[in-house]
Amino acid sequence: MALNILYRGPAERGQHWQTLFAQHLPQVKWHNWPEVDDNSAIDMLVCWIPPRDYQQDYPNLKVLFSVGAGVDQLNIATVPKELQVVRMLDPGIQQGMTEFVQMSVLNIHRDTLAYVNMNQRGQWQQLPGVSTAKRQIGIMGLGNLGQAAALGLQNLGFSVHGWSKRPKVLPDMQCFHGNDQLKVFLQQCDIVVCLLPLTDETRGILNQHTLACLPKGASVINVGRGEHIVEHDLLNLLNQQHLRYAVLDVFAKEPLQADHPFWQHPQIWVTPHIAAITQNDSAGLALLANVQRYINKDTMVGVVDLNAGY
Ligand code: NAP
Repeated sequence: MALNILYRGPAERGQHWQTLFAQHLPQVKWHNWPEVDDNSAIDMLVCWIPPRDYQQDYPNLKVLFSVGAGVDQLNIATVPKELQVVRMLDPGIQQGMTEFVQMSVLNIHRDTLAYVNMNQRGQWQQLPGVSTAKRQIGIMGLGNLGQAAALGLQNLGFSVHGWSKRPKVLPDMQCFHGNDQLKVFLQQCDIVVCLLPLTDETRGILNQHTLACLPKGASVINVGRGEHIVEHDLLNLLNQQHLRYAVLDVFAKEPLQADHPFWQHPQIWVTPHIAAITQNDSAGLALLANVQRYINKDTMVGVVDLNAGY
């Protein structure tokens, strides 16, 4: 019996992926939401946010694919154990994130925001600099994106260390793990990059207490999720000059409202959740390869641990 995939998302991407599947896996029937004759035939749903009652509407659903790297938008706690949730491991997302983290770290390292502010005032002032090797970068989250970003920073000459849930051994970097080692990890960061998934354990992880563990003059880059940071605490520590800069790509409420204090803050650089965007070409191939694995009864890549939430 044919495998039926229902796609819900931007039409252009749907058409692109439909063509790809027609070329490489013609035995798969591709449907673009909401065009489905028989809901009970749908085996796989590909989306960012699923339709509200998807579990009732598609009673024979076996796989829920996220078109993004994260799955916090899916309300994992309500997903039945027999439904596989698979996140997008797109080389294009990984490349985009590595570039964004490199750019952000370099901007902080070279005081770009301070110089932009000085430009606007017509102020000529040279700030002291340090070499990349003396700049300690800490990556929170050593998964698919965190490890790639770490390597990208090492290639620029930065000293990189990382923190994850479970112990890890990675080339040329000190790896910390677990809540017990969070403080000592943070104490060594001139710049900390948050690349954690959003779960009950990581929500609000960057708060007054943890941010204060960073050395004075440290900076924060958040490319995980907005809710990782307690916004008010971040503002306090920036205003007290304990923290120097924050580069923020993700926010508790998106889009960031026009009167939010982050926009005008001289130490904050805001970007509109663009650090890494799913690329239709490479993500389509990644999805295709995973569906092929499913057909072959192989383990798909990016299967989410429903208990851990990522
Ligand atoms: P991943 O491969 O699942 O890696 C997650 C990492 O976080 C793992 O190293 C994991 O530790 C660690 N972790 C999870 N919970 C932890 C905890 N309680 N304490 C310490 N470490 C913990 O995820 P990924 O693909 O790298 O993506 C990370 C996140 O990036 C996504 O979830 C998404 O929110 C965000 N993202 C943002 C953008 C953007 O444009 N801004 C784009 C894509 C993704 P273990 O290795 O020990 O399991």
